[in-house]
Amino acid sequence: MDVRQVRLGDHANGLGTELLCPTCSGNNLHQRNVTVFQRYEDQATTIVMQQCEDDMVVSTFPSRDTCNPSLRRHGLLLEMECESCHYSYEDSEGDAMPKEPLHRLAIYQHKGTTYVEWQLG
Ligand SMILES: [Zn+2]
Repeated sequence: MDVRQVRLGDHANGLGTELLCPTCSGNNLHQRNVTVFQRYEDQATTIVMQQCEDDMVVSTFPSRDTCNPSLRRHGLLLEMECESCHYSYEDSEGDAMPKEPLHRLAIYQHKGTTYVEWQLG
């Protein structure tokens, strides 16, 4: 997995600061699925809340079996699709299709500090 630093663009007209694509620096990112990892320090199990399109699944897993970006605590993964990077593929009918994998914005806690990074691949 390739990890990249989060870069921000302009603070746009009171709407907030633009999140930039980690591969092309474009500012047209679309949020897709979200996964939340609820884990207190070194807890053996993690509650995983996974939104996938119109469904939401809440499950408990052994912590070692999850893809929680935090090694010991809470974490969050947001899938993001870039208008520039993810639509260069056309299907057999010529329709633009999203190319997998999507970029994942990871936010997680480690030793009292919260980190944010891009996870690619
Ligand atoms: Zn991009």
